Amino acid sequence: MTEMEEGRGFEHPLGTYIQLDLRHLGAKKILERLPGIRSICIDFIGIDPVKEPIPIMPSQHYSMGGIDVNEKGASKIEGFYAAGECACVSVHGANRLGGNSLLDTIVFGKLAAKDIENNLAKTKLKPKEKPLQKLIVKVENKINRLAQSGGERPYKLAADLGAIMSEKVGVFRTKKELVQALDEVIKIKKRYKNVSISSTDKHMNYELHNALELEYMLEVAHTIVLGALLREESRGAHFRRDFTTRNDKKWLKHTIAKMGKKGEPLISYKEVKITNYQPMERKY
Ligand SMILES: Cc1cc2nc3c(=O)[nH]c(=O)nc-3n(C[C@H](O)[C@H](O)[C@H](O)COP(=O)(O)OP(=O)(O)OC[C@H]3O[C@@H](n4cnc5c(N)ncnc54)[C@H](O)[C@@H]3O)c2cc1C
Repeated sequence: MTEMEEGRGFEHPLGTYIQLDLRHLGAKKILERLPGIRSICIDFIGIDPVKEPIPIMPSQHYSMGGIDVNEKGASKIEGFYAAGECACVSVHGANRLGGNSLLDTIVFGKLAAKDIENNLAKTKLKPKEKPLQKLIVKVENKINRLAQSGGERPYKLAADLGAIMSEKVGVFRTKKELVQALDEVIKIKKRYKNVSISSTDKHMNYELHNALELEYMLEVAHTIVLGALLREESRGAHFRRDFTTRNDKKWLKHTIAKMGKKGEPLISYKEVKITNYQPMERKY
């Protein structure tokens, strides 16, 4: 990141990148230890890391946090479960270790499925037709509103949102950048009210799919920015350049976001339950 910020990146239509040079490892080691990485480079960009440096740029590959659930995948809303990356069972802390997504999907997916099975017969919840019908009408109205002409296209807003989140809400953050990002995200949320799609056809209509998804992306982005702005410390993948150390006294707590009446995130905090292992700094 710093290399790019300091102007040592290379420009490309897809974004600024730097080069990762593995040539010093030699062909034997690369072929033995990194055959997968090598074949991705050859297949996707026609570059052989044995002979050339690899162009790289920062990208998100996991979302820490998610829907607040217990170890059985159950949320606070009766009958509503979440498992996988969208859920936060809270085993990863502020930085998921490599490979641990398997835990989310395989272990907690299974535990959630078992709990659903065990509780299904006991549950007092009955499928209610009325709320479901109401929801269908709500979504239909939303789709019809998206068909209005003359508004901005969803891909433009998604691109603007992506650029802001990458530039100002990456691993390294400052209050100044986060305040700017918050302002920009709120502006895009306003622009979203006037977004237009070219067809409401429900079959393979990616523009419609993207437009609907964008609303959720904006809600999540708003929550991430606000949570990061308020958390004045550095922890895991959240590195505040203006608060560079971890502050357990003030910040050993979970950030909880609920949706306010106007669709805005309302932030509160929850205590961290520590059992066998004390949280420690991750060192390499
Ligand atoms: C580049 C990259 C590298 C990674 N490397 C590793 C690694 O080495 N080790 C590791 O453990 N993890 C890794 N991860 C993370 C891991 O891949 C993910 O955490 C994991 O695949 C998430 O699985 P999931 O089933 O929870 O979610 P997903 O695989 O994201 O599945 C969610 C599904 O829900 C669908 N969906 C979304 N919204 C709706 C909706 N409204 N209605 C219906 N369907 C919907 C989506 O289309 C998708 O198919 C990596 C991730 C990335 C991006």
